[in-house]
Amino acid sequence: MVKIKWLGHAGFEIKIDEKTVLIDPWLTGNPKAACTTADINTADIICVTHDHSDHLGDSVEICKKTGATFIATYELANYAQKNGVEKVVGFNIGGTIEIAGLKITLVQAFHTASCGAPTGFIIKGKNRTLYHAGDTGVFSDMKLIGELYRPDIALLPIGGYYTMGPYEAAVATSLIKPKVVIPMHYMTFPVLTQTADEFVKNIEEKAIGTKVVILKPGEVYED
Ligand code: ZN
Repeated sequence: MVKIKWLGHAGFEIKIDEKTVLIDPWLTGNPKAACTTADINTADIICVTHDHSDHLGDSVEICKKTGATFIATYELANYAQKNGVEKVVGFNIGGTIEIAGLKITLVQAFHTASCGAPTGFIIKGKNRTLYHAGDTGVFSDMKLIGELYRPDIALLPIGGYYTMGPYEAAVATSLIKPKVVIPMHYMTFPVLTQTADEFVKNIEEKAIGTKVVILKPGEVYED
């Protein structure tokens, strides 16, 4: 059982195996934020895909408030530690750590970063596996990620401009082959204006067979 709440943009709160994992919690300044940092009182782990401000967001502050462990590339984890986060795990692409009963793997993403490298995360619980792709363009090794980790649920950017758009994200879905895909990183900024309609249309046209779950910020998907 997993509960996935969209916090807006690339941010998610994931409840899995009685643990709370936040990914890219950008709330302050996010026009689509589902809540504020004041509403977040519990977190065990915070995964940060890269250091752009719309992903690193409020992660340092929330770690300090909740005592959550900050997980990212080695370089970004060092940054968090220098900024006062007590518990950090800095690892790198291809590596898997076990923390709080979960297996967490850092995977590649095709994007940029000023500190460390852009990444995605695989989060494996007892009976559900999630893939958060971070900010990325489509790449053919998404097929390998699908084969290696067999994610049940993929969280993919679809907004274009900074990441893959709806067409590329549908191709990415066909490579990864998750049971469920949840689009993210759209409708946040003036340059990310489109709805998820074109993504849904592309998934249907390609007969990929993956279920698309469209969330509004604050909504929860349970599986
Ligand atoms: Zn970015």
